[in-house]
Amino acid sequence: MSLPDWNLIKSKLSILADAAKYDASCSSSGSHRKRDAKGMGNVEGMGICHSYAPDGRCISLLKILMTNFCIFDCKYCVNRVSSDVKRAKFSPDEIVTLTLEFYRRNYIEGLFLSSGIIESSDATMEKLIQVAKTLRQVHRFNGYIHLKVVAGSSQELIEEAGLWADRVSANVEMPVQKDLDILAPAKTIESATTSMNQIAEKVSEAKEEQKKSFRFRAPKFAPAGQTTQMIVGATGSTDSLILNSSQSLYRKYALRRVYYSAYSPIPHSDVLLPTEQPQLVRENRLYQADWLLRFYNFEAQELVNDENPDLPLDMDPKSAWALRNRQYFPVDVNSAAREQLLRVPGLGVRNVERILQMRPHRKISLLDLGKLRVPLKRTKYFVITSDHNPDVFLLDSQHLKKNIAPESTQLSLFDIKQTAVSGEI
Ligand code: SF4
Repeated sequence: MSLPDWNLIKSKLSILADAAKYDASCSSSGSHRKRDAKGMGNVEGMGICHSYAPDGRCISLLKILMTNFCIFDCKYCVNRVSSDVKRAKFSPDEIVTLTLEFYRRNYIEGLFLSSGIIESSDATMEKLIQVAKTLRQVHRFNGYIHLKVVAGSSQELIEEAGLWADRVSANVEMPVQKDLDILAPAKTIESATTSMNQIAEKVSEAKEEQKKSFRFRAPKFAPAGQTTQMIVGATGSTDSLILNSSQSLYRKYALRRVYYSAYSPIPHSDVLLPTEQPQLVRENRLYQADWLLRFYNFEAQELVNDENPDLPLDMDPKSAWALRNRQYFPVDVNSAAREQLLRVPGLGVRNVERILQMRPHRKISLLDLGKLRVPLKRTKYFVITSDHNPDVFLLDSQHLKKNIAPESTQLSLFDIKQTAVSGEI
């Protein structure tokens, strides 16, 4: 292999790593500190983002597009064919070299690879697969690989992608077809869900085969499962449409995550698109609600409905539900079922498990909850403990919403972001 032209690769990297930042499936670290002459290290790190491995470890990934050329014209996308952005394209070999070089230097533990569509969906997907296959087969690369399934890729190619990648993701982009018809008429939700269905079936088939094969291990298929992404705020779709769509995707296709990406206004965008970015708080509230669907046994209908089609921005969705359903409280932490505890504002999944483990050994007091870092300001109105029985007048009071609100706006924003990431709500 001839030596790569590093200056050319660097200039392509700056374009294609920047273009990849609109995909929320892993979030960018966004640090820009450069190396100085006397110092050591360099976090210029174009294209490096952090993601979570299936075992919960935070890993750094090289997050890039193979190319930002695209034959599609999705109005919400900076890389659409009618956009006048600077374009670049990596060859599969260049991406392999870049991944290996970054890996050897300990900058990254894996690769997140997506692409604009060139020639055709299958031609593009073949090149993405070529990168993953070369890394695995030729270079014995055992790092993490996440491949984006290009919209409209054939079943055979999706099946091959899952053999080399740890995770694959087909983006649904919008919660309903009506939104795609307006902003990306060449795409359909059905095409994305057909891909998701194929992936879900292959993942489950491969797991079954693995269980059966003792001597010769059957090949794995996308062992870290599949995810998808929805853009939020590019149309008037409500949180109710978004969360009901996510709930249906989780149930039908065993998705690991739905990522919500607040629409970022792009230069020279279509008049149909908003000129301002939706509030990031909305994105975080959707993530909080998403945790409630996946781990707290909530139904989308309980959080948003015809009467309340959007999540409130001024409080987390679990507290908002509790305020609308005060008849279920207070809950006795020393005797309530797990499902009841999970519905208490401020009691996250981890703390509910700790409470259940402590209960056979001792009566739990408010002080114990404080030691578990439960936000007592919010939680105390909704629980009975060995030393605390809340005043029912306070629980019924019109001022309860004000009483449980975080003290300052800054604290509130910090809290929203924290809980949207950790899922402890
Ligand atoms: S297919 Fe993907 S890269 Fe191309 S315009 Fe649509 S969203 Fe952008």
